[in-house]
Amino acid sequence: MKPNKTVLVTGSTSGIGLGIARVFAHANYNVVLNGRTKSTLTEKLCHELDQLGNASVQFYPADLSKPDDIDHMMSALPAIDILVNNAGMQHVSPIEDFQTEKWDLILALNLSAAFHTTRMALPHMREQNWGRIINVSSVHGQIASPQKSAYVAAKHGLIGLTKVCALETAETGITANALCPGWVLTPLVEEQIRLRAERSGRTMEKESQALLAEKQPSKTFATPKQLGETCLFLSSDAASQITGTSLTMDGGWTAL
Ligand code: NAD
Repeated sequence: MKPNKTVLVTGSTSGIGLGIARVFAHANYNVVLNGRTKSTLTEKLCHELDQLGNASVQFYPADLSKPDDIDHMMSALPAIDILVNNAGMQHVSPIEDFQTEKWDLILALNLSAAFHTTRMALPHMREQNWGRIINVSSVHGQIASPQKSAYVAAKHGLIGLTKVCALETAETGITANALCPGWVLTPLVEEQIRLRAERSGRTMEKESQALLAEKQPSKTFATPKQLGETCLFLSSDAASQITGTSLTMDGGWTAL
């Protein structure tokens, strides 16, 4: 059956965002993919997702670190019923060496972008008295790790934004929640594993295992598909009273 709802997943050309978009496409939601630029890859992805279900799939290029790009995107798109704020990046460095441009970029992309998309998506959601806002935060929205100051600050901020949004919409059919994954094997994490392997001289496989062993008691990566299925659940009627929460999916990381 066609849900007749449109979901925007920001930063959905790879990793978690793509996994979430695939799950919604498969469940016959209209899907809007987003990444910085249009390319043969984005065309291929639209084609692939189009085959999964019987609703529409489109790609909208926008650099979400830029409020003007977000404005253009949100104004050009059809009304969004489910907003998944997923686009994000990482940079690893001690505070005293952290480049200020990187700090500004991570705050803009990982935090401010969600404020801008949310403020522009809410009027339609309020009008129809239904909507879902899902912010992909992180275990780093709940606890810290060294060398990730901008990321940790942004992800904590995103949980704060989620709570405010949940309170402001509490008497409506709109919910706002955050997802807090631990390690998920995506290009963002592969880059961190590559840096570790470069430093240690060990294989990527060995460094993957070491990475998991340090923090994630399950010693297993969560998958983009699992995050997608969780977003699908949060979009269901069963989840209508779940709002303002942070769903932790970290294999026990924060239970330590
Ligand atoms: P990824 O690098 O695979 O994907 C990031 C996506 O964001 C890509 O589609 C990329 O095109 C897009 N993007 C990057 N800069 C952009 C910009 N300026 N404008 C628009 N799109 C842009 O990373 P991922 O691991 O899939 O991460 C997705 C989200 O999940 C991020 O917010 C990340 O912080 C969060 N997260 C990831 C993990 C993990 O272990 N991978 C854990 C917790 C949270």
